[in-house]
Amino acid sequence: MNRTLIQDVLTARKIGESATVAGWVRTVRHSKGGFSFLSLNDGSCFAQLQIVADQSLPNYEAEVLHLSAGCSVVVAGELVASQGKGQAVEMQARELRVLGQCDAETYPIQPKHHSFEFLRTVAHLRPRTNTFGAVARVRNRICSAIHEFFQQRGFLYVHTPIITASDCEGAGEQFGVSTLDPAAPPRDEKGQVDFAQDFFGRRTYLTVSGQLAVEPYCCSLGDVYTFGPTFRAENSNTPRHLAEFWMVEPELAFADLDDDARLAEDFLKFIFSAVLQNCADDLKFFNERVDKTILETLQGIAESEFVRLSYTEAMDILGKANRTWDYPPKWGADLQTEHERFLTEETFHRPVIVTDYPAAIKPFYMYLNDPDEQGRRTVRAMDVLVPKTGEIIGGSQREHRLDVLEGRMSDCGLNRDDYWWYLDLRRYGGIPHAGFGLGLERCVQFCTGMANIRDVIPYPRTPRNAEF
Ligand code: ATP
Ligand code: MN
Repeated sequence: MNRTLIQDVLTARKIGESATVAGWVRTVRHSKGGFSFLSLNDGSCFAQLQIVADQSLPNYEAEVLHLSAGCSVVVAGELVASQGKGQAVEMQARELRVLGQCDAETYPIQPKHHSFEFLRTVAHLRPRTNTFGAVARVRNRICSAIHEFFQQRGFLYVHTPIITASDCEGAGEQFGVSTLDPAAPPRDEKGQVDFAQDFFGRRTYLTVSGQLAVEPYCCSLGDVYTFGPTFRAENSNTPRHLAEFWMVEPELAFADLDDDARLAEDFLKFIFSAVLQNCADDLKFFNERVDKTILETLQGIAESEFVRLSYTEAMDILGKANRTWDYPPKWGADLQTEHERFLTEETFHRPVIVTDYPAAIKPFYMYLNDPDEQGRRTVRAMDVLVPKTGEIIGGSQREHRLDVLEGRMSDCGLNRDDYWWYLDLRRYGGIPHAGFGLGLERCVQFCTGMANIRDVIPYPRTPRNAEF
């Protein structure tokens, strides 16, 4: 079908021109004098195109008068100056064809307010609403900005596997992948399930991160990134966690944590600027209806400098804060959301990059610092914290010294043989390198102000929920 997108009609077409548009009716109003007004949305932009259909259409009585919200139509007509306010043009229909009727009685998306909780139960139809259309467009823009950013800087896009035999962060939070019959799996002589007889001849999992698999490409080809779905089986029912989410993970060659932090800051600013520039109508909607500070926050961040702070300094600030905590800050313990929010929202009012966390709470592959004056061990890790969302990026400089890495693996109770190829990178031409992971959905949440992460991915996977 030779159709014009409503976005083009509204931005690039002139009064007097003809066009054909196709989409879904959002609202209909039939007026007495033989006129009907439809607002049509085709997903190309936030705005609707107003269509004026009158009784001169041959199917006016038979079809147009029966249209309701949700019907799909194709309309050919002429662009005329709009009588109503809000839009410069509307379309006078010359021909209106109904593609799909919509049962007004049972259609779940009525032209009224629906709660996000309700809309999650109709995840297949929620993209017909203003909010979910806008989320989908912002998410799309973020993804294209991610590729633009790295491609412009010469990073190579590498596809890492989704099924993996390695466990990036320590066991317990991965989904197993198996074709064994769960009711009667083969057993070894000790009575344990015999995964040697499984599809891959060993235990396999859905990946929690592409990092370990992308490092060999970084240590061969230079700067790289991977971008794909990742899976975590933690039973955390929070507004910021999904069991399946998308992560973009750059890995920088010949780089330390300062290079990594600089990249993360430039990267986030690039994404936010792209969204501000290309999703203005969608952001305006979020700013009016979802979070009144979102535009100001995004603009502010695009122009501000991120704060750099060590974990130990952060602990000092939190320890001196005059307030009661659910989790009193204590050196050695991980930062809680309340701590992260205190730093970004109350202390600095901008993003904060916290570095050099205690080694004991971080994975084995992070570069080990020399002990501090008090003998405490930290690693060259960083978390980028932003207001409201908290941690949006987690990263580190990688441990490239073979002996130190092997020591850390023993400390973490990991078996070296399982990581033989990862250790090879430190044996054969090892280099300092660093990287981070940005959770795509956390980023979409941040850009839209959407409170629940389940509302920024088309089909959220969370504990006890995989309907669609
Ligand atoms: P958190 O402490 O918030 O649970 P994490 O420290 O376990 O996150 P990392 O392993 O550092 O997360 O992952 C890198 C990034 O991936 C995080 O900064 C976050 O943006 C995102 N992320 C991690 N876990 C989830 C999840 N379950 N759902 C959505 N995004 C996630
Ligand atoms: Mn993290």
